[in-house]
Amino acid sequence: MNYKIYNILPEYGTNTILLWDEVSKEAALIDPGKSSSNLLKEIENLKLNVKCIINTHGHADHIGGNSYFKNNLNCPIMIHSADQDMLIDSKKNLSAFMGQDIVSPQADVILKEGDKINLGESQLEVIHTPGHTAGGISLYGKKILISGDTLFQLSIGRTDFPGGSFETLEKSIKEKLFTLPDETIVIPGHGGFTSIDREKLENPFIGLASRI
Ligand SMILES: [Zn+2]
Ligand SMILES: [Zn+2]
Repeated sequence: MNYKIYNILPEYGTNTILLWDEVSKEAALIDPGKSSSNLLKEIENLKLNVKCIINTHGHADHIGGNSYFKNNLNCPIMIHSADQDMLIDSKKNLSAFMGQDIVSPQADVILKEGDKINLGESQLEVIHTPGHTAGGISLYGKKILISGDTLFQLSIGRTDFPGGSFETLEKSIKEKLFTLPDETIVIPGHGGFTSIDREKLENPFIGLASRI
Protein backbone atom coordinates (compact mmCIF):
# COMPACT_ATOMS: atom_id res chain seq x y z
CA MET A 1 0.00 0.00 0.00
CA ASN A 2 1.13 3.51 -0.74
CA TYR A 3 0.40 6.61 1.31
CA LYS A 4 0.90 10.36 1.48
CA ILE A 5 0.33 12.74 4.35
CA TYR A 6 -1.13 16.25 3.99
CA ASN A 7 -1.28 19.15 6.43
CA ILE A 8 -4.46 20.87 5.23
CA LEU A 9 -5.33 22.19 8.70
CA PRO A 10 -2.06 23.76 9.87
CA GLU A 11 -3.70 25.38 12.93
CA TYR A 12 -4.06 21.92 14.43
CA GLY A 13 -1.43 20.01 12.48
CA THR A 14 -3.77 17.13 11.76
CA ASN A 15 -2.29 14.45 9.53
CA THR A 16 -4.73 13.92 6.68
CA ILE A 17 -3.77 10.67 4.99
CA LEU A 18 -4.32 9.27 1.52
CA LEU A 19 -3.74 5.54 1.47
CA TRP A 20 -4.05 3.51 -1.71
CA ASP A 21 -3.54 0.19 -3.38
CA GLU A 22 -0.83 0.48 -6.04
CA VAL A 23 -2.44 -1.77 -8.62
CA SER A 24 -6.12 -0.83 -8.49
CA LYS A 25 -5.57 2.82 -7.34
CA GLU A 26 -8.45 2.35 -4.91
CA ALA A 27 -7.90 4.75 -2.03
CA ALA A 28 -9.11 5.79 1.42
CA LEU A 29 -9.07 9.39 2.59
CA ILE A 30 -8.44 9.43 6.33
CA ASP A 31 -9.21 12.34 8.65
CA PRO A 32 -9.76 15.22 6.22
CA GLY A 33 -9.45 18.11 8.69
CA LYS A 34 -10.73 20.75 6.31
CA SER A 35 -11.88 21.32 2.74
CA SER A 36 -8.94 21.60 0.33
CA SER A 37 -9.08 22.09 -3.43
CA ASN A 38 -5.35 21.37 -3.57
CA LEU A 39 -5.84 17.93 -2.08
CA LEU A 40 -8.72 17.30 -4.46
CA LYS A 41 -6.42 18.18 -7.38
CA GLU A 42 -3.75 15.90 -5.95
CA ILE A 43 -6.24 13.01 -5.88
CA GLU A 44 -6.99 13.69 -9.56
CA ASN A 45 -3.29 13.91 -10.44
CA LEU A 46 -2.56 10.62 -8.70
CA LYS A 47 -5.54 9.14 -10.61
CA LEU A 48 -6.94 7.67 -7.42
CA ASN A 49 -10.41 6.25 -7.01
CA VAL A 50 -11.31 7.25 -3.44
CA LYS A 51 -13.67 4.59 -2.10
CA CYS A 52 -14.25 5.97 1.39
CA ILE A 53 -13.60 8.70 3.93
CA ILE A 54 -12.59 7.20 7.28
CA ASN A 55 -12.50 9.20 10.52
CA THR A 56 -10.23 7.78 13.22
CA HIS A 57 -12.50 9.60 15.69
CA GLY A 58 -15.06 12.40 15.80
CA HIS A 59 -13.08 15.48 16.86
CA ALA A 60 -13.57 18.50 14.63
CA ASP A 61 -9.93 18.61 13.49
CA HIS A 62 -10.39 15.15 11.95
CA ILE A 63 -13.84 15.56 10.35
CA GLY A 64 -13.94 19.22 9.19
CA GLY A 65 -13.44 18.29 5.53
CA ASN A 66 -15.93 15.40 5.44
CA SER A 67 -18.72 17.39 3.82
CA TYR A 68 -16.49 18.90 1.10
CA PHE A 69 -14.77 15.64 0.19
CA LYS A 70 -17.95 13.57 0.31
CA ASN A 71 -19.64 16.02 -2.07
CA ASN A 72 -16.69 16.03 -4.46
CA LEU A 73 -15.70 12.36 -4.30
CA ASN A 74 -19.16 10.89 -3.81
CA CYS A 75 -18.04 8.24 -1.34
CA PRO A 76 -19.25 6.99 2.05
CA ILE A 77 -18.13 8.35 5.43
CA MET A 78 -17.06 5.70 7.94
CA ILE A 79 -16.64 6.05 11.71
CA HIS A 80 -17.00 3.89 14.83
CA SER A 81 -20.50 3.76 16.34
CA ALA A 82 -19.41 5.33 19.64
CA ASP A 83 -18.21 8.49 17.85
CA GLN A 84 -20.91 8.81 15.19
CA ASP A 85 -22.91 11.48 17.06
CA MET A 86 -19.84 13.71 17.10
CA LEU A 87 -20.19 14.12 13.32
CA ILE A 88 -23.44 16.01 13.64
CA ASP A 89 -23.03 17.80 16.99
CA SER A 90 -20.57 20.68 17.24
CA LYS A 91 -20.53 20.45 21.04
CA LYS A 92 -19.65 16.77 20.98
CA ASN A 93 -16.93 17.27 18.35
CA LEU A 94 -15.61 20.22 20.39
CA SER A 95 -15.76 22.80 17.55
CA ALA A 96 -18.44 24.78 19.43
CA PHE A 97 -15.89 25.46 22.18
CA MET A 98 -13.46 26.87 19.62
CA GLY A 99 -16.04 29.32 18.33
CA GLN A 100 -16.82 27.28 15.23
CA ASP A 101 -19.77 25.19 14.16
CA ILE A 102 -18.22 22.26 12.34
CA VAL A 103 -20.50 19.40 11.40
CA SER A 104 -20.30 16.57 8.90
CA PRO A 105 -22.90 14.58 6.99
CA GLN A 106 -24.06 11.55 8.98
CA ALA A 107 -22.04 8.38 8.81
CA ASP A 108 -22.81 6.04 5.91
CA VAL A 109 -20.94 3.08 7.33
CA ILE A 110 -20.58 2.29 11.04
CA LEU A 111 -17.31 0.57 11.85
CA LYS A 112 -16.51 -1.92 14.59
CA GLU A 113 -13.52 -3.92 15.83
CA GLY A 114 -12.29 -6.39 13.25
CA ASP A 115 -14.01 -4.86 10.21
CA LYS A 116 -12.00 -5.12 7.00
CA ILE A 117 -11.96 -2.34 4.42
CA ASN A 118 -10.85 -3.52 1.00
CA LEU A 119 -8.89 -1.32 -1.38
CA GLY A 120 -8.27 -3.45 -4.44
CA GLU A 121 -6.19 -6.40 -3.27
CA SER A 122 -5.11 -4.50 -0.15
CA GLN A 123 -6.93 -4.48 3.14
CA LEU A 124 -7.26 -2.23 6.18
CA GLU A 125 -8.32 -3.73 9.47
CA VAL A 126 -10.28 -1.70 12.01
CA ILE A 127 -8.88 -1.85 15.56
CA HIS A 128 -11.09 -0.24 18.20
CA THR A 129 -8.73 1.79 20.41
CA PRO A 130 -10.88 3.78 22.86
CA GLY A 131 -9.38 6.10 25.45
CA HIS A 132 -8.93 9.44 23.62
CA THR A 133 -12.60 9.16 22.62
CA ALA A 134 -14.97 6.24 23.16
CA GLY A 135 -15.09 5.41 19.46
CA GLY A 136 -11.47 5.98 18.50
CA ILE A 137 -10.10 3.53 15.95
CA SER A 138 -6.72 2.66 14.51
CA LEU A 139 -6.32 1.20 11.01
CA TYR A 140 -3.84 -1.54 10.28
CA GLY A 141 -2.63 -2.33 6.80
CA LYS A 142 0.40 -4.38 5.91
CA LYS A 143 3.06 -3.11 8.35
CA ILE A 144 1.39 0.33 8.48
CA LEU A 145 -0.69 1.60 11.38
CA ILE A 146 -2.83 4.74 11.28
CA SER A 147 -3.15 5.48 14.99
CA GLY A 148 -5.37 8.58 15.09
CA ASP A 149 -5.04 10.45 18.39
CA THR A 150 -4.42 7.20 20.32
CA LEU A 151 -0.64 6.88 19.96
CA PHE A 152 1.79 9.63 18.95
CA GLN A 153 5.56 9.67 18.50
CA LEU A 154 6.78 9.35 22.10
CA SER A 155 3.42 10.56 23.36
CA ILE A 156 -0.26 9.62 23.63
CA GLY A 157 -3.60 11.30 23.00
CA ARG A 158 -5.25 13.52 25.57
CA THR A 159 -7.65 11.75 27.88
CA ASP A 160 -9.29 14.77 29.52
CA PHE A 161 -12.00 15.31 26.89
CA PRO A 162 -15.49 13.80 27.25
CA GLY A 163 -15.30 10.06 26.57
CA GLY A 164 -11.60 9.98 27.41
CA SER A 165 -9.92 7.70 29.95
CA PHE A 166 -6.21 7.14 30.56
CA GLU A 167 -6.73 3.58 31.80
CA THR A 168 -8.73 2.73 28.70
CA LEU A 169 -6.18 4.38 26.40
CA GLU A 170 -3.28 2.57 28.04
CA LYS A 171 -5.10 -0.75 27.71
CA SER A 172 -5.86 -0.05 24.01
CA ILE A 173 -2.23 0.74 23.28
CA LYS A 174 -0.73 -2.12 25.28
CA GLU A 175 -3.13 -4.85 24.24
CA LYS A 176 -4.02 -3.87 20.67
CA LEU A 177 -1.16 -1.79 19.26
CA PHE A 178 1.96 -3.00 21.06
CA THR A 179 1.03 -6.53 20.00
CA LEU A 180 1.44 -5.64 16.29
CA PRO A 181 4.72 -6.52 14.54
CA ASP A 182 7.66 -4.45 15.87
CA GLU A 183 8.55 -3.05 12.47
CA THR A 184 5.07 -1.59 11.87
CA ILE A 185 5.30 2.05 10.80
CA VAL A 186 2.96 4.26 12.85
CA ILE A 187 1.34 7.31 11.26
CA PRO A 188 -0.30 9.27 14.08
CA GLY A 189 -3.12 11.83 13.93
CA HIS A 190 -0.61 14.62 14.60
CA GLY A 191 3.17 14.94 14.37
CA GLY A 192 5.87 12.69 12.97
CA PHE A 193 6.02 9.00 12.16
CA THR A 194 7.20 6.39 14.58
CA SER A 195 7.22 2.59 14.85
CA ILE A 196 5.78 0.01 17.22
CA ASP A 197 9.19 -1.13 18.50
CA ARG A 198 10.33 2.44 19.18
CA GLU A 199 7.17 3.22 21.14
CA LYS A 200 7.36 -0.04 23.10
CA LEU A 201 10.90 0.89 24.17
CA GLU A 202 10.72 4.65 24.54
CA ASN A 203 7.15 5.91 24.98
CA PRO A 204 7.26 7.70 28.36
CA PHE A 205 3.53 7.38 29.03
CA ILE A 206 2.86 3.69 28.48
CA GLY A 207 4.10 0.83 30.55
CA LEU A 208 7.18 2.60 31.84
CA ALA A 209 6.87 0.87 35.19
CA SER A 210 7.11 -2.54 33.57
CA ARG A 211 10.47 -1.64 31.98
CA ILE A 212 12.20 -0.35 35.11
ZN1 LIG B 1 -8.80 14.09 18.93
ZN1 LIG C 1 -6.58 15.49 16.71
